[in-house]
Amino acid sequence: MKNNYIIAIDGPASSGKSTTAKLVAEHLGYTYIDTGAMYRAVALYCIINNINIDSKDAEFQISKAMSEISLEFRKINSEYHIFLNKEDVSKRIREPDVTALSSPLSAKKILREKMVKLQRDIVKDKGAVIEGRDIGTVVFPNADFKFFLTASLYVRARRRAKQYADEGIKMDIEQIKQNIFIRDSNDSSRKNAPLKKADDAIEIDTSDLTIEQQVDKVIEIIKTKD
Ligand code: C5P
Repeated sequence: MKNNYIIAIDGPASSGKSTTAKLVAEHLGYTYIDTGAMYRAVALYCIINNINIDSKDAEFQISKAMSEISLEFRKINSEYHIFLNKEDVSKRIREPDVTALSSPLSAKKILREKMVKLQRDIVKDKGAVIEGRDIGTVVFPNADFKFFLTASLYVRARRRAKQYADEGIKMDIEQIKQNIFIRDSNDSSRKNAPLKKADDAIEIDTSDLTIEQQVDKVIEIIKTKD
């Protein structure tokens, strides 16, 4: 098998992208890139620095913020960590305030332009599994493989509730459902790089699949190309 395929995995919140992408990357010995974590880290930077993304000079502030931000992925004890200006923020970026801000923030054109460039630079010519919302449509329109993962809103809310519970965060399932719905609606309706299935992406509904089944499906498709 070629060792430098670009594999794009897009889909709405909690559709199983991260788990699938990580395991596929591990199986193939590829780099794994969680672009959502990158948007989340910038959202955290805005929270810490009181940047109001609705202010008149938001574009300027975000552009300035991007010039002050360094993002780095590191794999530590088989876990993927993201560092914002050398600080490990992997846990903090999963908290509800960062999650809520990441969606309206990522609709900003200036931020997306910088992120797309950064994401392409990180990948260069390496084999990589990249997950997000616009990977198959905008970041890597010529990706070797494009997958679009979906799942029912109920299943996705249950998955997110479990993630929160594992992290010690208590959240009502109805509230989670509502938050996911709002985030997906914003991500799908924005002007810049909306969440949508690329025409040539393979859609996988993960509602009734186990993690192993999701991963096997993706790997099987990749292997059939060889
Ligand atoms: O995937 P995750 O839920 O961590 O992404 C957080 C937010 O970042 C999403 O709701 C979306 O608004 C934004 N995002 C994006 N484009 C990507 C990845 C994430 O706009 N490629």
